[in-house]
Amino acid sequence: MTDCIFCKIIAGEIPSVKVYEDADVLAFLDISQATKGHTLLVPKKHVPDVFAYDATLAATVFSRLPKLARAIQASDPQITGMNILNNNGAVAYQSVFHSHIHLIPRYSDQDDFSIHFGDHSDRFDTAALNAVADAIRAKVGD
Ligand code: 5GP
Ligand code: ZN
Repeated sequence: MTDCIFCKIIAGEIPSVKVYEDADVLAFLDISQATKGHTLLVPKKHVPDVFAYDATLAATVFSRLPKLARAIQASDPQITGMNILNNNGAVAYQSVFHSHIHLIPRYSDQDDFSIHFGDHSDRFDTAALNAVADAIRAKVGD
């Protein structure tokens, strides 16, 4: 896709600091370095978000995660954990619309990275949870 910054990185038209590459994926350091070693894993094929994946592409991309995560972890003994994130849609904080997975190594609870999960369990009794699940199950398909 001509106006996609990650397609340009994949094509070598924009520089990046690569950490892994094969025929189907590229992994490179995120320019923001939310924490040191923050890496993006992207399919070389332009897909905007997870909603556009088929099972084959998902298997290809997500299968690279464990070895990449282990390599990042092994690169610095101070890494004690990792957040793996995939933002889909502007409301979900996606800003580059070429699908990518963030690997964010964690050093401590003071390393300036956080995620907030609100607890709204008081709004969902069993009947409400079943209604939510029914609506999803009806759309899962094969
Ligand atoms: P998103 O917000 O879409 O989940 O994440 C996009 C990420 O791409 C951001 O963390 C941002 O720092 C990173 N990014 C945007 N432009 C570039 C770039 O030109 N080079 C690199 N290496 N990272 C970029
Ligand atoms: Zn692209």
